[in-house]
Amino acid sequence: MLRSGFGSIRRTFSPARSSCICHARLFTTRQVRPGWEAVIGIEVHAQIDSKTKLFSDTPTSFDEAVNTKVSLVDLAFPGVQPRLNSTCVEMAVKTALALNSNVQLRSSFDRKHYFYPDLPQGYQITQHREPIARGGHLTLTKLDGVVEPITVRLDQIQLEQDTGKSFHDMEPGVTLLDMNRAGTGLMEIVTQPDLRTANEAALLAKKLQAVLRCIGSSQANMSEGSMRCDVNVSVRRTGAPFGTRCEVKNLNSVRFLAMAIEAEIDRQIEVLENGGQIVPETRGFDVAARKTFKLRSKETAPDYRYMPEPDLPPLCLSQTYVDQLAATLPELPDQCRDRIMQQYDLNVDDANTLLNEPGSLVYFEELAKGRQVNIVRNWTLHELFGQLAGQDIPFEQNPVSVSQMGGLVDLVQDKKITGPTAKKVLRLMLESEHGVMPQVIVEQRGWARQGDAQALTELCQKLADAHKDKADAVRSGTLKFFPWFIGQAMRESKGRADPVELNKILCDLLGCKPEDVAALSKKKKKN
Ligand code: ADP
Ligand code: MG
Repeated sequence: MLRSGFGSIRRTFSPARSSCICHARLFTTRQVRPGWEAVIGIEVHAQIDSKTKLFSDTPTSFDEAVNTKVSLVDLAFPGVQPRLNSTCVEMAVKTALALNSNVQLRSSFDRKHYFYPDLPQGYQITQHREPIARGGHLTLTKLDGVVEPITVRLDQIQLEQDTGKSFHDMEPGVTLLDMNRAGTGLMEIVTQPDLRTANEAALLAKKLQAVLRCIGSSQANMSEGSMRCDVNVSVRRTGAPFGTRCEVKNLNSVRFLAMAIEAEIDRQIEVLENGGQIVPETRGFDVAARKTFKLRSKETAPDYRYMPEPDLPPLCLSQTYVDQLAATLPELPDQCRDRIMQQYDLNVDDANTLLNEPGSLVYFEELAKGRQVNIVRNWTLHELFGQLAGQDIPFEQNPVSVSQMGGLVDLVQDKKITGPTAKKVLRLMLESEHGVMPQVIVEQRGWARQGDAQALTELCQKLADAHKDKADAVRSGTLKFFPWFIGQAMRESKGRADPVELNKILCDLLGCKPEDVAALSKKKKKN
């Protein structure tokens, strides 16, 4: 039965519950509560950023009409055979190298059997016995936001196929299937239980995202499903042996991951404090209720009947191949952060923003070429990012091109426009003037900085005459009205008046010392 492009089956279980957004708690130690410690490991599935699927030459689809990127191989028609995609292998090897993991010169594939409508073969091809890489680690430093530096060890990295996608809530009583994703290459990356708090787990997920994006092996976007995380959580009295763990599945943002871990820690501690026992389970997370809920018990976990994949020979790599890929690795996030903090005099938050927002570092570095770094920093990291955030636009959809933004920075740098004007121009480039150079916007609207001393003097004189009481007050030492005149003059000039020139003229006119005015504005900024 086909419905609007979907394959469909009868639904046997309930749809996911609705969501709301809340903030995660902040931790200052590795203990989650006095006397209690949590133990956390993460299993990540990252979709490999390759043009075609893992075992077929079907194009991968990240945003395509349903069931349009599917071949007979992906649908497991009788007689078809898998053929390994070399790009996926290359990406996995690069990922392993970037994560300090040992690439295995020989690995192999297995079939993992289970029956679900979005798995047409009736088994997933994975690397159960001999993964492509073993071991490895990621470190979290104070710059990443942890209290003490920690090393999170990795178990292994394995290549495997993705499934199709089931939609349970589009038509009542029916599950719809989109097979575009079926057969896409995944890297499963498993950490050892080295994490102790939700915050550490969230920072690790972010760090992993940064590494995968940096080497280009995955877009690692949790909300779009190109990075999916399951977390294993247990709690214990401080210093006691590891407790029984539960797995929380299907977390689709770093924030939800942190929230789910906190909720699960709270639940387990409560059970134990009330004299109960933790039963190994697979659980889901209800964002609205901020609670995890049971999906299934581990006792009823299926027997996957693993067997070697007979249609694929072992994957044998040469050391030369691995060495060649190692030589192509780009600068990794930690090195990059050190460099940009130094080169552009960035604080750690700004550096992390550039590392975490896909595309923003290249944008920033392009802009910084030959321009004053402090102006680029201010207008990109603070103003542009601020306006984008205000309009809920992710950086990836930033409509302002590097050349437009460069033009704007040049206008500010060359003192052709004032700060308030630059803000207006930026807003226009974001909202309506797509692709129009800022020079053109400024010219068309007559927004050039007004530095003509005579015109500004006339303007100030007019203001001083019209508001004689305030002008006299300033003249007799009540400096607090000085900024009021600056504000008025700015308003009258529609933000175009040169603030330095204006300051000078008003000081002369109202008989105050520039250093007193400067001291006043410094004091104001401090407050
Ligand atoms: P499974 O076969 O259930 O997937 P794995 O051995 O692959 O089990 O481990 C899954 C995850 O569970 C790993 O990330 C590991 O770090 C984590 N883990 C193992 N023991 C514990 C524990 N006691 N508490 C929390 N997490 C754990
Ligand atoms: Mg596992």
